[in-house]
Amino acid sequence: MFSYIDHLECSVCGAVYPHNKPIRTCTACNKVLLARYDLPKLKREVDRGAIEGRHSSMWAFSELLPASTPDDIITLGEGGTPLLRAQRLGASLGMSSLYIKDEGLNPTGTFKARGLAAAVSKAKEVGLTRLIMPSAGNAAGAMAAYAARGGIEAHVYMPQDAPDANKLECTTHGSELNLVDGHIGDAGILSRARAAEEGMFDLSTMQEPYRAEGKKTMGLEIALQLGWRMPEAIIYPTGGGTGIIGMWKGFHELLELGWVEGELPRFIAVQAEGCQPVVHAYDAGAETSQAWPNPHTVADGLRVPHPFADYLVLQAIRETGGTALTVSDAEMVDAMKEMAAAEGVFACPEGCATLVAARKLLAQGQLDPEGTTILLNTGSAYKYLSLLV
Ligand SMILES: *Cc1c(COP(=O)(O)O)cnc(C)c1O
Ligand SMILES: [Zn+2]
Repeated sequence: MFSYIDHLECSVCGAVYPHNKPIRTCTACNKVLLARYDLPKLKREVDRGAIEGRHSSMWAFSELLPASTPDDIITLGEGGTPLLRAQRLGASLGMSSLYIKDEGLNPTGTFKARGLAAAVSKAKEVGLTRLIMPSAGNAAGAMAAYAARGGIEAHVYMPQDAPDANKLECTTHGSELNLVDGHIGDAGILSRARAAEEGMFDLSTMQEPYRAEGKKTMGLEIALQLGWRMPEAIIYPTGGGTGIIGMWKGFHELLELGWVEGELPRFIAVQAEGCQPVVHAYDAGAETSQAWPNPHTVADGLRVPHPFADYLVLQAIRETGGTALTVSDAEMVDAMKEMAAAEGVFACPEGCATLVAARKLLAQGQLDPEGTTILLNTGSAYKYLSLLV
């Protein structure tokens, strides 16, 4: 037995679908589909200790990933990233158990590699050969790399002001790149029209079931790296919310398997002042977000004005007693320098937003200085060098 995937389930109406055919969202209500595994069987057959001895990539958790056989995996070695104790930053914040999960070490320089490794692998497994995606930048770069690795076709729609690094990785990996005058929402309109016209499969954030499965492995790894323990809080730079939803789902799976006990971590969503639909909805007590007008921030991964899975992000935050807050672009760039100098971690502005958020929440008495807190650094600073010159 390799993957214990069993079926897909709608996150809203509960409709069930097979996992071995191409499908994007629920055909009954158009909401997010989530992958479901045969957890009772997995619990009977596999001990968590088996995971520990495996080669360190996200595929160490193959039982909880969608690829049906080892041959279905398209990999560049994604995942298995370090969970770094941040002693100097912790001391400066007055925190005794602060960690950075450093996703900058992934192929393509960001955690988007995890999501796209899972999604492109499963896409190829079910027979898809032409992929398309609107992207603020990093997701497209990752799709381009995994499509190249899998020998399938990829098409990208990206805002024209996305970082050069993202445009160049797409074209260099052999994807077709279309630059759009607007933000990722505008890119999505063009990309979906093209997909419909030419029968391409759209891998938009949370509009297919498997990118969240790849990102889920960040949570699984954090639990393993803490010695099969939940942290108290995870501070997460939130764009489309795939990572929060994935980790939230992954922690529930670990609980159900009995591999970890205790309470889920508090999920704390950080957004940019210039694009804060989730924070706004959280503050308003709303169950969904409203499209954020004129979204702007130097943290391209956070420039998502209207997340498709906003209701799941808000549920994850509320269910875990988390919170949501914003930081400014200037604060993120200052924090890039602070994290690099204090810990040697060369992190992207999105990842550094978590450091600013921790400091703000501590000052407001909203974060336990003794609790194990994870700053989720989603990517490397190498794609954002212009912010540092
Ligand atoms: C995409 C992205 C994010 C936001 O990720 P979601 O899981 O979709 O919220 C954060 N940081 C970086 C660097 C990104 O590329
Ligand atoms: Zn449904």
